[in-house]
Amino acid sequence: MTHSLTAEDRCDRCGSQAYIRAQFSQSHELLFCAHHGRRYKAALELRVSELLDETHRLTVTNQSR
Ligand SMILES: [Zn+2]
Repeated sequence: MTHSLTAEDRCDRCGSQAYIRAQFSQSHELLFCAHHGRRYKAALELRVSELLDETHRLTVTNQSR
């Protein structure tokens, strides 16, 4: 099990590549793209046990398309 998000991970809202993972419990997590991650982040931070934010990769890595 990896802690990083990959291109395979998709936003639960719109299907874009996910950059934020909200871990609610061991078996329950939601993925969000940068757009929806920013939108829900404040609310998520109150509820999740772990919030992984990799939106910084957006400015670093070059998307292949
Ligand atoms: Zn989205």
